Amino acid sequence: MPRVVVIGAGAAGSVAAIFAASAGAETLLLERTRDGGRKILISGGGRCNVLPMRVDESRFVTDSSPNLLRKMLRSWPLDEQVAFFERDLGIPLVDEVESAKKFPASHRARDVRDGLLAHAARQGVRFVPDTLVTGFHPHDGGWRVTCDGAPPVDADAVVVATGGLSVPNTGSDGLGLRVLETLGHTMHPTYAALTPLTADAPDFNALSGVSLSVTLTARTAARAATASGGFLFTHHGYSGPSVLNVSHVAVRSRAEAERARVTVRWSANGDAEWEALLRPHGARTVLGAVRAALPERLAAVLVAQAEVDAQRTLAELRRDERQRLVETLVRGTLPWSGDEGYRKAEVTGGGVALAEVDPRTMESRRHAGLYICGEVLDAFGPIGGYNFLWSWATGRAAGLGAARERLAGA
Ligand SMILES: Cc1cc2nc3c(=O)[nH]c(=O)nc-3n(C[C@H](O)[C@H](O)[C@H](O)COP(=O)(O)OP(=O)(O)OC[C@H]3O[C@@H](n4cnc5c(N)ncnc54)[C@H](O)[C@@H]3O)c2cc1C
Repeated sequence: MPRVVVIGAGAAGSVAAIFAASAGAETLLLERTRDGGRKILISGGGRCNVLPMRVDESRFVTDSSPNLLRKMLRSWPLDEQVAFFERDLGIPLVDEVESAKKFPASHRARDVRDGLLAHAARQGVRFVPDTLVTGFHPHDGGWRVTCDGAPPVDADAVVVATGGLSVPNTGSDGLGLRVLETLGHTMHPTYAALTPLTADAPDFNALSGVSLSVTLTARTAARAATASGGFLFTHHGYSGPSVLNVSHVAVRSRAEAERARVTVRWSANGDAEWEALLRPHGARTVLGAVRAALPERLAAVLVAQAEVDAQRTLAELRRDERQRLVETLVRGTLPWSGDEGYRKAEVTGGGVALAEVDPRTMESRRHAGLYICGEVLDAFGPIGGYNFLWSWATGRAAGLGAARERLAGA
């Protein structure tokens, strides 16, 4: 029986352990926290957005080959993942149609975390919590995993599922990333992704609590991202799915020569719609026309930003004023000063280059018997269940790979 050690009982590691054990490996799941799966617990506002309702692969972000990314994702199609949760784990999922997300029918993230660990136990996985792994290295034809305050563990294969750097109090300390780099793997620089942006913009800061649906674009010469959806003004800046989904472009630009420009279309209306709504007619005020499509306080700020008198009637609105207003409403500049970083980031961008692993088995191309999955790898998706999709798919492939390759080699 091959012995597989999985490091990290998060999303990817718990699934890797389940599949390694079900494929016949003696499987040990090492976890530094008392209970594991802490990101699962806080995910989706405590409801755990387990999966998206459908997958648009082009929405994943990587500096590696998108082709490799697709191969890894397709190793476990969405419908089979849904069946795993519903049939094997006994966790029925429900659709939230407006956001295209899937949640457990109980709307309790704990059911997902507990369901995974209970299923792992049924498959024979030995879960070892409160164990901080300090390193792993080739040893005697296999692998040795060193732990803080406990004897080392020897194995035929190791699965690294230690996650990234985001929200460190969930257990992520970047150990996997560091050791994998030491072992010679190419790393793409890591950065906080899906994180709120900060702004020192008194007009907008005063709108804290106002939310609406917008389309945002963040752009530099090197990269761009566009996202539509919820947008929230906070005391310090902006949050909501649309902000999180473009934040990586802003975050990365802070370390580069050119700072990203973020522009916003504040409503579903484009140039033509606004031109029609603001055409010179009638006694309606400019503010009245704009606030019909936007929250009132925001409407007032935007009209002021366009340097238009809010009380002017549409009949009196000059052409140059209308043009400035339409520009502000359709392509307004969103001032931003920084980001909330890893403290609030839902994921880590960058990580182990995808070319460093075999997409069928997730085995390292540098070291036999070493398997890598989840957020440690250079890929992340948008808000909406995409990041668990990635962790479940790569975790399963790594667990099966570790057990089967070692069985075949035994
Ligand atoms: C607030 C928040 C909400 C989110 N909501 C969603 C959502 O609704 N849907 C979605 O798809 N994604 C969501 N995500 C993203 C998702 O949680 C991650 O993409 C996913 O958890 C990554 O899985 P992973 O197994 O690679 O890493 P993790 O889940 O972070 O697991 C890594 C595990 O390894 C353990 N570990 C780390 N280092 C060591 C060590 N040295 N020794 C032993 N153990 C170690 C950690 O304690 C942890 O248990 C959210 C993230 C956050 C922060």
